[in-house]
Amino acid sequence: MSATRADKRVFDFAEGSRDMRMLLGGKGANVAEMTRLGLPVPAGFTITTRACIDFLVAGGTMPKGLDGEIDRHLVDLEARTGKRLGDPEDPLLVSVRSGAPESMPGMMDTVLNLGLNDRSVRGLANRTHNPRFAFDSYRRFIQMFGDVVAGVDRALFETALGDLKAARNVAQDVDLDADDLQGLVETYKAIYRDAKGVEFPEDPRAQLDAAIRAVFESWGNRRARDYRRVHRIPDDLGTAVNVQQMVFGNTGSNSATGVAFTRNNTTGEAGEPFGEFLINAQGEDVVAGIRTPEPLAELRAHVPEAYDQLVATMALLEKTYRNMQDVEFTIEDGQLYMLQTRNGMRSAEAMLRIAVDMVDEGLLAPGEAMRNLVVADQVRQLLLPRLDVASAPAPAASGVKASPGAATGAVVFSADEAERRGNAGESVILVRDETTPDDFHGMVAAKGILTSRGGKTSHAAIVAVGMGTPAVTGVTELHVDEDAGVLTIRDEIVVREGECVTIDGASGTVYVGRLDLLPPDPHNPYLERVLAWADAFRSMHVRTNADTPDDARRAREFGAEGIGLCRTEHMFGGEERLPYVQDMIMAEEREDLVAALDHLREFQIADFVGIFEAMEGLPVTIRLLDPPLHEFLPDYTDLRIRMARADATGVPDAEAAAQLPRVERLKEVNPMLGTRGCRLGIEIPELYRMQVAAVLTAACDVKIRTGVEPIVEVMIPLVGFEEELRWLREHVLDVADAVFAEQGTSVEYHVGTMIELPRAALAADEIARQADFFSFGTNDLTQTTLGFSRDDAETKFLGDYLAKGILRSNPFEHVDVAGVGQLVRMAGERAREVKPHIKLGVCGEHGGDPDSIHFFGSIGIDYVSCSPFRVQTARIAAAQAALLQQGT
Ligand code: PEP
Ligand code: MG
Repeated sequence: MSATRADKRVFDFAEGSRDMRMLLGGKGANVAEMTRLGLPVPAGFTITTRACIDFLVAGGTMPKGLDGEIDRHLVDLEARTGKRLGDPEDPLLVSVRSGAPESMPGMMDTVLNLGLNDRSVRGLANRTHNPRFAFDSYRRFIQMFGDVVAGVDRALFETALGDLKAARNVAQDVDLDADDLQGLVETYKAIYRDAKGVEFPEDPRAQLDAAIRAVFESWGNRRARDYRRVHRIPDDLGTAVNVQQMVFGNTGSNSATGVAFTRNNTTGEAGEPFGEFLINAQGEDVVAGIRTPEPLAELRAHVPEAYDQLVATMALLEKTYRNMQDVEFTIEDGQLYMLQTRNGMRSAEAMLRIAVDMVDEGLLAPGEAMRNLVVADQVRQLLLPRLDVASAPAPAASGVKASPGAATGAVVFSADEAERRGNAGESVILVRDETTPDDFHGMVAAKGILTSRGGKTSHAAIVAVGMGTPAVTGVTELHVDEDAGVLTIRDEIVVREGECVTIDGASGTVYVGRLDLLPPDPHNPYLERVLAWADAFRSMHVRTNADTPDDARRAREFGAEGIGLCRTEHMFGGEERLPYVQDMIMAEEREDLVAALDHLREFQIADFVGIFEAMEGLPVTIRLLDPPLHEFLPDYTDLRIRMARADATGVPDAEAAAQLPRVERLKEVNPMLGTRGCRLGIEIPELYRMQVAAVLTAACDVKIRTGVEPIVEVMIPLVGFEEELRWLREHVLDVADAVFAEQGTSVEYHVGTMIELPRAALAADEIARQADFFSFGTNDLTQTTLGFSRDDAETKFLGDYLAKGILRSNPFEHVDVAGVGQLVRMAGERAREVKPHIKLGVCGEHGGDPDSIHFFGSIGIDYVSCSPFRVQTARIAAAQAALLQQGT
């Protein structure tokens, strides 16, 4: 019985399309699309992602009926190609490749040249009149199958190849002849037999079965899991498997293999496509960065017709996909084959330029460009440090400009070491001959990546560009000795593990030692165009979290429309002020308290004047003191130690003796849930009254001196009950009346609250009666809703939760939509029932996170507030939120 559409698990390339990426994976869907467009794609079929999930859920058992379906498609494929798998005369060879719905470059497994065995290799040799090619393909197959499918240590094969080259006294693989390679096949089979205790499988259908299983299983390997975690790809999508007729880029000098982008993926420049190729090589040689390839333009000289066809094909693909494409191709004896196309990874610069150029070329409207071509978070890469070229010494070496930005740090030679030291907070540069997908966890933790091999499309370069990590690749003068823990440059310069280097991905240069880096250049004309579109599309406002005039000014340069959170506790530190803060806390008598507060008021007035001036009439939300007071006194244990020392030495410590009893009284088992926020304001109303007086005095002063009236929003933290806010609001109004009378003028001001406790969200209608605005403190709201300590969760269990897939993302980074998000939505709705025009903002970390911003846009939040460096990202994300809302 033939499979019905719903449970069909295998699709011929001619049956699919690019809309089927969830089922066929990105590679399968795009290969199907290219087939539909009539492009030269080797024939094949795709086994669906659903089959992969069924296989994994069943503990590694092939779903019922799948083998039969594969057999039928294999028969079709054989008929179409006129070749049979394993045929001793003219064998069909296939590649077996993974392909997930979201691109995960190189993270899962691939097997090439499948179908070769001791008999079919001779057929291939006779048919192609090229025994060298046939045996080279066979030895590659054994190596890949051994490594990927059977788990034989790859190094064993590499050592055998190295030994053979040494014995023949040749430097390159291509210098080995057919007899050498035939001998190597026997060596490889012996390695396989020794490692596995069985012979290398000769039956091609058994080879295919094992390869399909291995690709399914590779969905769960460590590097794939790590990659999904970093890129927040769900674990339950599965990978498709593409079985495709092999074409060969390694049959001689008229053959080649390469990868290319329709536009430059570093600068975004259009024009001639841009990429790299290797003559007489197979695809994995390029991506693995094993040989340094030639620039694409040189291909015209080798195979002019295929080159022209490639250029035309790429232009067609870009028009079809309405996005910059990254293609893989192979040329076999002058004939072009397209193996893959996908939306290309690109640097932040390239992303913006491509979006602007495609709009200017009339290919897209700005809305489509904003939705599909602009990744809000990537804009932050433009804010990466740059090298101070004018003051830099001559570089020690140079290579390929693989990923822009400069980085400086200690050299490490392994991914594990990069992970260990990077996670401990050290800046490290991961240095390798080349990176492989196994190095991903170390690449994430490194500040920069440096390799001696590989071009712009090597694994190192592609992964670095995707993460925004500076990288220089293909530094051929660099010699890496991982075992000895040293790198040498031209045998002259020696750098040991832990010593410093600086790399500049923008110029492809490497320097020994730590160089000064410049702050990034914020003026990028393409960014300005994209931000102008964003501002036209968005309805949500973007403010900043800033506590100093400098931060406020910087944020305004990035386009902030006000301050959404000024944390006043940041103004209580510093050598000059801390003694008064401590006096205030230590005060036993009212006069002492008032005296200390008077001093602090003068400091605070100066702070607020600076901020109001910087904001020039834009709204400024000032939050009254939030943290518990003991944070401003020495640590309890330290005081105890000081007292013990004083006792032992007989040298008295008057300060410690005075502070210890107060600290003891303030000490709380759980300060996060203790006397902080409005509870502090209610316990010591003089404190909040002093702050309000300072804020309003400063505002009146700025108004009088500059003529520009600040808009003041006084925000009370950690409110849970209407009565708390009503009580404190009365104090604010009272102080305001007094200040305005004293100053002889007044300013516009509002009183609102943070919503950062579940009770506040639930009772939002009651609290709204006392509030002019709400600002959701999603940091505390996440902590209190989930019961996850924001101080500990991320360094304790959260990593484990993410690794085990209990949570898909860190709820302190991306809002927990189902929990915290629903509280925010509900609180907003309840508040608006009472006060339809109450202003709603978000000032937790989520206010700068694009995914969270998309959610806040969907529930009618009026503004988000985030750190200055995320303001541009937030403007773009707010525009995307508006476009999503419109459903365009
Ligand atoms: C919050 O809790 O989200 C917030 C913005 O306040 P803080 O981070 O200062 O507690
Ligand atoms: Mg808070």
